[in-house]
Amino acid sequence: MVKRCYKMKFGTYTFLPEKTPGFDFQLFRVKPEVGRRMPPQPDMYSNIAIFGDNVAARNHPDWISQSPLGPAWRTNNNFNVRWEVLCATQPEHREEQLDYIEDVARNSQGVWLNSIHFAEHGHCTCPRCKDLWKKSGLGWLEWRSKEITDYMAQVSERVRDRAKKKFVIGVLPDPVTNYDRFGVDFDALAPLTDEFLVVMFSKNYATPWYWETLTRNFKKLFREVPLNISLYVFGPGDDPREVPTTNELLTVSVRMARAGVDNLLYLSEKASQIADFQKAALAQVELRDRLRSYGGKPVQEYLDFVQGWDKIVQ
Ligand SMILES: [Zn+2]
Repeated sequence: MVKRCYKMKFGTYTFLPEKTPGFDFQLFRVKPEVGRRMPPQPDMYSNIAIFGDNVAARNHPDWISQSPLGPAWRTNNNFNVRWEVLCATQPEHREEQLDYIEDVARNSQGVWLNSIHFAEHGHCTCPRCKDLWKKSGLGWLEWRSKEITDYMAQVSERVRDRAKKKFVIGVLPDPVTNYDRFGVDFDALAPLTDEFLVVMFSKNYATPWYWETLTRNFKKLFREVPLNISLYVFGPGDDPREVPTTNELLTVSVRMARAGVDNLLYLSEKASQIADFQKAALAQVELRDRLRSYGGKPVQEYLDFVQGWDKIVQ
């Protein structure tokens, strides 16, 4: 049995400053990742995204986070970015957000943060970050997480010590490789925050996200031992309406390939069901073209493998 800190509470989390009766607390998205800002509400908590900020990116394109696989524009399919992500060491943005967050904290119940971290694995390689890293004398991952932790200590001081309000840090749903991907060290952040928030269940992107994350997590935990993953194409007794679509199987396979899976197995009751999947996969020309932009060598190898089915499928 997992111990809870206190009696369970229930809240709403909304894009509009509207309260719903029947809940213990209300969290309002004062500044979501699209970057627009709405006035904080005195009787609601405020949710602020820091480095995911389309407005700041539009006004300062040179603030965008950089990597060997390109900048963190939301159009860069190599990464799971649904909005523009700024470099996490950008000093002007950091400073402006500190004042903004303190002001919002003073005018609402408290602050719950999103997007506190580096864009994804390999970010940020802008000249300033490279310079800061070299001067730090730390390893690359260690330096990244120190940048995030040090900045969160400043934000925490503004919200908890100066504004005397509740402070909650939001993290992405990846329990094992948050540190490697985003520079988020849960143990280092724990003393700085009152609670953590993990956003889950968005049909918009959740399934490929979780499959890719689980792949990364198992890769990290298994270390040198190769990772095989099997995907259900059509299990015995499965309802045909509930089996994954070809589109889903291809997308998830590509996302697992880029996350380092060593081998993939496709599971079905009968061989004919796999043959149906092969045919359907070949028919998805447009999707396979798009998936080419999802990553480097492993992704291209997987898509070449699928393309090779055209020699055997009638
Ligand atoms: Zn940078």
